[in-house]
Amino acid sequence: MRLDGPADVVVVGGGVTGCSCALTLARAGLRVRLQDAREIAGGASGRNGGFALRGGSAPYDVMRTSMGADAALRLWRTTEDAIDEMEVLAGDALRRLGSLRIAVDDEERDELRAEYDALVGDGIAAEWVDDLQGPLRGRFTAALRHPTDAALQPARWVRRLAALAVEAGVEIREHARLGSLDDAGGAIVVVCTDGYPSRLLGELDGLIVPTRGQVIATEPLEELWFEVPHYGRHGFDYWHQTPDGRIVAGGFRDTSLEAEFTDVEETTPVVLAALEGFVASLAGRPLRVDYRWAGIFGLVLDFLPVVGRVPGEERAWVAGGYSGHGNVLGYLCGQLVARAIVGDRDPLLDHFEPARLLNA
Ligand SMILES: Cc1cc2nc3c(=O)[nH]c(=O)nc-3n(C[C@H](O)[C@H](O)[C@H](O)COP(=O)(O)OP(=O)(O)OC[C@H]3O[C@@H](n4cnc5c(N)ncnc54)[C@H](O)[C@@H]3O)c2cc1C
Repeated sequence: MRLDGPADVVVVGGGVTGCSCALTLARAGLRVRLQDAREIAGGASGRNGGFALRGGSAPYDVMRTSMGADAALRLWRTTEDAIDEMEVLAGDALRRLGSLRIAVDDEERDELRAEYDALVGDGIAAEWVDDLQGPLRGRFTAALRHPTDAALQPARWVRRLAALAVEAGVEIREHARLGSLDDAGGAIVVVCTDGYPSRLLGELDGLIVPTRGQVIATEPLEELWFEVPHYGRHGFDYWHQTPDGRIVAGGFRDTSLEAEFTDVEETTPVVLAALEGFVASLAGRPLRVDYRWAGIFGLVLDFLPVVGRVPGEERAWVAGGYSGHGNVLGYLCGQLVARAIVGDRDPLLDHFEPARLLNA
């Protein structure tokens, strides 16, 4: 559909954040146009590992220290509520399976135990797993199960969210890069581009650091070992199986850490080799790899999202910087920035203030 007149708000970015923001604004009665340089879910939202995880991108006990105990608890609870909402909206694009955060050695086991203790101490559901099964047995030392997490078919989910936004009155323009804030014709602009450089953020440009993630999907396997999202080595490795049995595995950025701080969206032989070796070791045999892809996410040094007004720009807002943890945070932060624009600012935004990046 097309708006019959000028937009009140132009949302930039057709990923989970932009679609969630546009939907929330339209439901609040604003006239909204969403633009993407490519297409809906063409960025990280359609290229990611499909883990819908509660919380922030650092462990709960670490976030308790960095944000304060009350704020961390609120963030975890709010993201759990967000997954509840996503479950209702996503249909078969979301499976509420929980997730398994795995320890590769005793040091990581101790870290997971500290997170587990902090979670259960604050009444947040978590389970400790000592007896790992199947290919995990003997290879990993323990795991922390997060029972409220989920597995996503991310592109399908975001397209559904976009369809809801259209139903609510949003005009979507694909293959329509916004070149400058002035091109929005005086409308409020919300920049929802996470790791993809938008060139719209003024002094903030580049401070949400573009970071590449690479992913493979294998041939379908008969065995279903990893239905639940699995992730270890502080999230550097992550994998799960799709309902048709393919192992989807991503990560191993640390095999060429510096080179992966880039916005060049292409796979590299070194990371692909690490991923292919890893899935073969999990299966105990070489596996055919049917799909390989790369995407860009936005990394922030304090591991907190960046949501609020763009410093020095009266009419521009931003929501992004999820540090590789944007499936749920993106959905939530799209709502939070929209609510702030209509004057219903959530106190969590005190912790996500964009201007902090200028002083870091
Ligand atoms: C390989 C990989 C694996 C990941 N795995 C997970 C995971 O398992 N779980 C998890 O929670 N998170 C994961 N993430 C992170 C997550 O995917 C992202 O944080 C999230 O999708 C960001 O969504 P977004 O809507 O903010 O941005 P995106 O989905 O990246 O969308 C940004 C859009 O902005 C558009 N754009 C940029 N500039 C302009 C402009 N000037 N004008 C118009 N359009 C513009 C781009 O074309 C792009 O489509 C992963 C990321 C990657 C790359």
